[in-house]
Amino acid sequence: MRCVCLLAILIAVRLPAQNAKKDPDQIGTRDVSRGVNFYSVDKEMALGRQLSQQLEQHSTLVTDKFVNEYVTRLGQNLVRHSDAKIPLTIKVIEGDDPNAVTLPGGFIYLQTGLISTADTEAELAAAMAHEIAHVAARHGTRQATQSQVTQIATIPLIFLGWGGICALGAGNGVMPVGLLATQRGYETEADLLGLQYLYKSGYDPLGMVDIFEKIFSFDERKHGKFSKVFSAHPASDGRLIAVQKNIETLLKPQPQYIVTTSAFNDVQARLIALDWDRKPEPAGPKPPTLYKPGDQIANSKKLVTQTDARASQIKEAYTIR
Ligand SMILES: [Zn+2]
Repeated sequence: MRCVCLLAILIAVRLPAQNAKKDPDQIGTRDVSRGVNFYSVDKEMALGRQLSQQLEQHSTLVTDKFVNEYVTRLGQNLVRHSDAKIPLTIKVIEGDDPNAVTLPGGFIYLQTGLISTADTEAELAAAMAHEIAHVAARHGTRQATQSQVTQIATIPLIFLGWGGICALGAGNGVMPVGLLATQRGYETEADLLGLQYLYKSGYDPLGMVDIFEKIFSFDERKHGKFSKVFSAHPASDGRLIAVQKNIETLLKPQPQYIVTTSAFNDVQARLIALDWDRKPEPAGPKPPTLYKPGDQIANSKKLVTQTDARASQIKEAYTIR
């Protein structure tokens, strides 16, 4: 009898929190980070700062002011419509995969491949909203707590990315089954919360379906269809269905949504131009450069950003892997 009563109390306590997580109107007033966590917020932020320094030592940061201002503006808009209680730092690192890394303490790193894979700002915002949900729910330190990780040296296991943690945990069999289940639960939760942040920020929620399809198909091409069986992420088909169902059942349709912006197109073109500048010239004889006296010789960066047809051809070459 006591067990039944205890169960009833647990259900009574648990239900409102679960329902609140599905109600976009309660964003900001609900606690989505509830759970056992050995880390205070201050400790989490100090840990995040330390890990971000390590990550930046091993990554190439995109330092372009225009790109950084854009992702920061986009991220802050999403944060304003999220449950996150800590400030967010968003940076871009070079990498061809459509991936992002979220560290404890609100440090998010977008790979350039993620920005080039997205076809609209809503798609990029969807991927970012998913990462912001990991921050809001403090998944990194909750997972570290569960695995009883206390040494900084072993913390990189909690790096959260679309593929990163899969490679670490699934490829070499390091991650115990219990942690895998927890990680999958966190991914499902980040999809649920991120979708609401995307919607409340005014974006087309279908952007999440579109970017997930692209990321999952990239992942399948790279790792094989069945790699997800042991991965830290839930099965991709199930995730897509869950997002579609959540759009239908949790979000009231709005008369209009933001799909994309000219700033997004500018950032994509700028990244292509930066990449174009960085890559070495192809081997072989160079074609002659022809100009008449009095012509201004534009540099290649300007040529690419101003020539839409050329930029889109290059983009296609980069995104079709
Ligand atoms: Zn995730």
